[in-house]
Amino acid sequence: MTASRSARGRRAATQAGPLARVKVDVDAADQLVYKISCTACTVRSGKPWSAYRPGEDNGYLAAMDRWTFHLVERHPDSEAPCLAFLEEAQQRLHERREAGTTANE
Ligand SMILES: [Zn+2]
Repeated sequence: MTASRSARGRRAATQAGPLARVKVDVDAADQLVYKISCTACTVRSGKPWSAYRPGEDNGYLAAMDRWTFHLVERHPDSEAPCLAFLEEAQQRLHERREAGTTANE
């Protein structure tokens, strides 16, 4: 569990690029929780901007999608491997909206 957790964290950090700080936690229900925070942005409370999503690969994708949109909006000059999947991320966002109240999000 611990090994795969850090491997997942490294994979996510590589995808998210140099501006991101990635943490993979385990919540009370033993679920993986992905947290991607921005090293350049703070929100009003003074904490770093972050995306926080629970749940294995779904959580990974959801957090990474949020992060990808953050990069596009706030750091359009930055480069990260996840930006290659922007189109897929937008497609997933669209599908989640289409699914409406039945979605987990
Ligand atoms: Zn940022």
